[in-house]
Amino acid sequence: MSLAAPIFQGSCLCGGIHYEIHGEIGDVIQCHCQRCRKANGTAFATNAPISSTAFKITQGENLVKKFATSGVYRWFCSECGSPLISSRDAQPELYRLRIGTLDTPLQQKPQMHIFVGSKAEWDCIADDLPQFEERP
Ligand SMILES: [Zn+2]
Ligand SMILES: [Zn+2]
Repeated sequence: MSLAAPIFQGSCLCGGIHYEIHGEIGDVIQCHCQRCRKANGTAFATNAPISSTAFKITQGENLVKKFATSGVYRWFCSECGSPLISSRDAQPELYRLRIGTLDTPLQQKPQMHIFVGSKAEWDCIADDLPQFEERP
């Protein structure tokens, strides 16, 4: 008998959408690229890869909207605007979770900063994590 996969739960700001992840959450990455900044209204997005088959929307599927740009889909709540995940045509097996929407405590800490080469001029990175101009 194999051990059961961990289950993480999350939801959007208005609570209309609830999701579960039946599996592991990968490396937590702070992305400073302009698209993440625009999508979140913040200095960086905090994302982690998950298996697309591990992700289940358990409530509010009808509220999910997907903003598409060149094969990348940013899933968000059409009621409150919370970003949830992104998916991409080129990597159907992976989703990138916006971990700020998790309700289950996550023990992992961020591993690195990416797209530091295009971070906002006012963005001050104040930790010692590895920084990459784009991707490692
Ligand atoms: Zn919502
Ligand atoms: Zn980004």
